[in-house]
Amino acid sequence: MSLKFSVLASGSSGNAIYVETEKTRLLVDAGLSAKQIQILFEKAACGEVGDIDGILVTHEHSDHIKGLGVLARKFKLPIYANKNTWNAMDGLIGDVATEQKFEFEMETVKTFHDLEVESFGVSHDAAEPMFYVFHHNGRKLALMTDTGYVSDRMKGIIRDSHSLVIESNHDINMLMMGRYPWNIKRRILGDHGHISNEDCGHALADVIGDGTKHIYLAHLSRDNNMKDIARLAVEQTLKTYDITAGEQIILHDTDASQPTKLALV
Ligand SMILES: [Zn+2]
Ligand SMILES: [Zn+2]
Repeated sequence: MSLKFSVLASGSSGNAIYVETEKTRLLVDAGLSAKQIQILFEKAACGEVGDIDGILVTHEHSDHIKGLGVLARKFKLPIYANKNTWNAMDGLIGDVATEQKFEFEMETVKTFHDLEVESFGVSHDAAEPMFYVFHHNGRKLALMTDTGYVSDRMKGIIRDSHSLVIESNHDINMLMMGRYPWNIKRRILGDHGHISNEDCGHALADVIGDGTKHIYLAHLSRDNNMKDIARLAVEQTLKTYDITAGEQIILHDTDASQPTKLALV
């Protein structure tokens, strides 16, 4: 009776997260080529991609759907997304057979065999972006990246997860000093962009509960962040709330091309 997951890849260059129980195997996003995703499944010992129960989509940005169409066609996999995301993906993922298309609306719960999946909206510049919380046998895993801020509503949904994959997108100074044009900087910093390392720390302080143990810092910007900087900023922010990383909770890195170890939630 266990819930396990691996962040196969995370970052602006492509995202994919694998979640499994004894009876259910799901992929959240397919933001790398189908070939790369197959390689990541092998690296993380997640079994055959072709045998999973489906792919849950968070939103239509290419770093989340790049390999979606090819993967779904190759293995006849069901895809789950909300109606507005389906409309936005039209023309981006090629033809997908009607019987592989399923609707998973925002703020609803779907049960896949022994795994309950709850969807919730985030604030991001996509049609109807949403992320997921997984419940199995009393264990809770929350995934949340690609959001410009973390509302009280979002915090309520992800609060007291045993494991949490959360965005720590950028270091504000690196972003401000960097080479991105101003309109892109404004987009990233805005309410519909991405959260900074400090924002991540502040949000974490509000959602860490007695059961929380593992925090995965995710969706790091390749140009405006570094693993050590992200981790340090989150640690320092948490310290201001008297939360010491390494004791109550463990911070984990994620990588753009190296999967995290398939781990228990
Ligand atoms: Zn996005
Ligand atoms: Zn993204």
